Amino acid sequence: MEFKVIRLFVLLAATVKAQVNPEVCRYPLGMTGGQIQDEDISASSYWSESTAAKFGRLDIGGGDGAWCPDIMSEPHGLKEYLQVDLRSLHFITLVGTQGRHADGMGNEFAQKYRIKYSRDGSNWVSWQDRKGQQVIEGNRNAYDVVLKDLEPPIIARYVRFMPVTDHSMIVCMRVELYGCEWLDGLVSYSIPDGHQMIYRDLEVSFNDSVYDGVSAEGLTKGLGQLTDGTWGLDDFLHSQIYGVWPGYDYVGWSNRTFPKGYVEMIFDFDHVRNFTSMKVHTSNMFSRGVRVFRQVTCFFWSDSEWEPGPITFRPTPDRVSQRARFVTVTLGDRTAKTIKCRFHFSDVWMLFSEVAFQSGSAVYNTSMGPGKHPKNPLTVDDPTHKVDDSNTRILIGCLVAVIAILSAIIVIMLWRQVWQKMLEKASRRLLDDDLTARLAIQNRAFAFRHSSLSSDSGSTSNSTYERIYPLCADYQEPSRLIRKLPEFAHSAENLKSSSSCMAATASGSDGAPHYAEADIISLQESSDGSIAAANMTPFTGTDSSLREFPREKLSFKEKLGEGQFGEVHLCEAEGMQDFLDEDLSVGEISESLLLVAVKTLREDANKNARNDFLKEIRIMSRLRDPNIVRLLAVCVDTDPLWMITEYMENGDLNQFLCNLRLKEAPDEDKPEQEEGEDSISYTKLISMAAQIASGMKYLSSLNFVHRDLATRNCLVGKNYTIRIADFGMSRNLYKGDYYRIQGRAVLPIRWMSWESILLGKFTMASDVWAFGVTLWEILTLCKEQPYSQLSDEQVIENTGEFFRDKGKQVYLPKPPCCPDSVYNDLMLSCWRRNAKQRPSFQEIHAQLQENMSA
Ligand code: AMP
Repeated sequence: MEFKVIRLFVLLAATVKAQVNPEVCRYPLGMTGGQIQDEDISASSYWSESTAAKFGRLDIGGGDGAWCPDIMSEPHGLKEYLQVDLRSLHFITLVGTQGRHADGMGNEFAQKYRIKYSRDGSNWVSWQDRKGQQVIEGNRNAYDVVLKDLEPPIIARYVRFMPVTDHSMIVCMRVELYGCEWLDGLVSYSIPDGHQMIYRDLEVSFNDSVYDGVSAEGLTKGLGQLTDGTWGLDDFLHSQIYGVWPGYDYVGWSNRTFPKGYVEMIFDFDHVRNFTSMKVHTSNMFSRGVRVFRQVTCFFWSDSEWEPGPITFRPTPDRVSQRARFVTVTLGDRTAKTIKCRFHFSDVWMLFSEVAFQSGSAVYNTSMGPGKHPKNPLTVDDPTHKVDDSNTRILIGCLVAVIAILSAIIVIMLWRQVWQKMLEKASRRLLDDDLTARLAIQNRAFAFRHSSLSSDSGSTSNSTYERIYPLCADYQEPSRLIRKLPEFAHSAENLKSSSSCMAATASGSDGAPHYAEADIISLQESSDGSIAAANMTPFTGTDSSLREFPREKLSFKEKLGEGQFGEVHLCEAEGMQDFLDEDLSVGEISESLLLVAVKTLREDANKNARNDFLKEIRIMSRLRDPNIVRLLAVCVDTDPLWMITEYMENGDLNQFLCNLRLKEAPDEDKPEQEEGEDSISYTKLISMAAQIASGMKYLSSLNFVHRDLATRNCLVGKNYTIRIADFGMSRNLYKGDYYRIQGRAVLPIRWMSWESILLGKFTMASDVWAFGVTLWEILTLCKEQPYSQLSDEQVIENTGEFFRDKGKQVYLPKPPCCPDSVYNDLMLSCWRRNAKQRPSFQEIHAQLQENMSA
């Protein structure tokens, strides 16, 4: 820390000393260091909030790792830019670029780019090198920083980085600017066009070749060679810069076209300043007719007119040394925003390579170090050339700044902690308030004890209910289905793989966490607390299902399965029918006993899982649709928490289909196949898919994103009735209200859209993507996991291919029973890269119904 502070002081001191020396003026301007504020970084567009402009900071991996423009925002696709506002004029000598790496998740970078800059925010200039090239070679990979010397340097406040690419390529950029503050304040100079000299048959051109203003009968409104920090050599035929024409370093004029005997130059500044001096770097090669000007007269414009009393300065003629030099013109603390100077010829030619101004406390040090540039003898003796080398003030200033920053960080951290606690409390309170029926049965003995709930299969031997279907291992082990992102591969080592159907294995038994648990940290942390989101939705249902049901009236029959929260049990509920509101009365009932499914929250569940469980209750209580599973009542007054839902006789759709085979299409030659218990027709499959689409249509009408649609989360009742369940992952969606996954997340990546995985974006369109996968599962009768031939890492790589969109992405294959039309027009359309081009659930539902009747 101490070292960093000292380094900062040294840098600051050096900055003051080396103002316009391009070799020293190469300090990072604050994209990486944070001195440039987020609000000063903007862009023409960005793909999502997580690739917004503020994430375009070199070497920082915020958001999704970089700024990525939205390539879909045509017709501006080729005009995307990342803009940095430096808040004041800067002399910029170097830029650095980097792509999006995002710890291996990203591989996007700009191979080429251009730069535009502006001093006032309205007039923009395309940067070009000394040979007129605008395009800069950028990055070759997503992680290396590529630095580019800006030759000529830029004097600007605003800089835009513009990736050069075609529409098909995704580019992401992180950038840094290097330079120092431009204390001159000079924003433009106006001069006559430079002349050409013929010296011994050699064309010597003294034009201002890098001038960035207007060139029409003279040069106006720009800066160029006179402010590029490059001083001409003694012999003007040679140049500091390689491969340029003779006379390149100088802008010069011959007296033959100036009948008045002087060249007039006008200098405009950013604001009114007190000028102490002007330094002009000029050639004095009198053997070739070039000399330092004889006299200069400067006029000052501060308000609305040229002030009376111009300053005239006559340098001492030097007829001995032909060395180029800085001539310092004392400006006597005159106040001006514009200065007009008339330089009088003392010979045929007058050549200038640099003009610099000192005003107020802005001090230049133009010494370049030994052997590099001609040393300016005038600089040393110049009484106005004061370098403020007293670092004490800077030191104190920096210390105060550092202390202030540290205090601010501590305050922010403390504030965040307090805020988080408040949010947690608020969400709990909100939920408690909303649980309308509170039947206090605390401490009462209960026949249906938790010990029996968590009992092994032995305890089910007395059950009057037989297990109807063996559970499919693919489904029952969420760890097999809900794969992990590569950074959590260490946990993934625990995961087993098998695709055969087998007896149920409790999820989590291998120690792999359930995906609705605490690991999905940030999903819990919606801006308004976990439950609040559901409150905001215009749900159609009532809260009657939130009534507390007496636990002792539930008697355990059998374990139905195990989900992310804990076990699910089949129970007989006594008096449920009387207990329920009319609108909630469910089907058959015998002797006031109703079969219900009781979903339990594991006793060792952490706070996040508990919140998710309560949230699922809250959400389900508001949903009323024939294709959404119904919540009947809850037991939440005491732990363990239970939710009572309608019982779906045929369990989940994955295990249901896993045990069936496809009924062959009727063949005229063969006798008609019976619809047996173990076979199912294509039409039935499509009808089940249509029911899911219908349920999703209902959810989408509420702007509700499920986030985890899959066959494992759909339940099957009598007569192939399907109801969507598992709202543990679901979140309410409002415009612009997306949820980002940070930290450790365990996700169903094989069902997730590319933007959900890469950008953490969950929308109705990502539910549509998941529906496409669910439809694929249905039509393959859940015989294999989606992309079963790909490892988790390969699935994520494939997601990257969707993002890059270069035609390398792999799609799930057409299931054998799936007609081409369904595959091409429906399934593939769910996996369109552009989320806006995916169909809505309304369209999907209509299409499936049409397919059923065809
Ligand atoms: P869940 O915790 O919702 O993922 O449920 C785990 C398993 O319990 C499911 O895969 C089903 O096999 C079973 N299950 C859950 N809810 C019901 C229900 N209402 N009716 C029948 N079986 C259910």
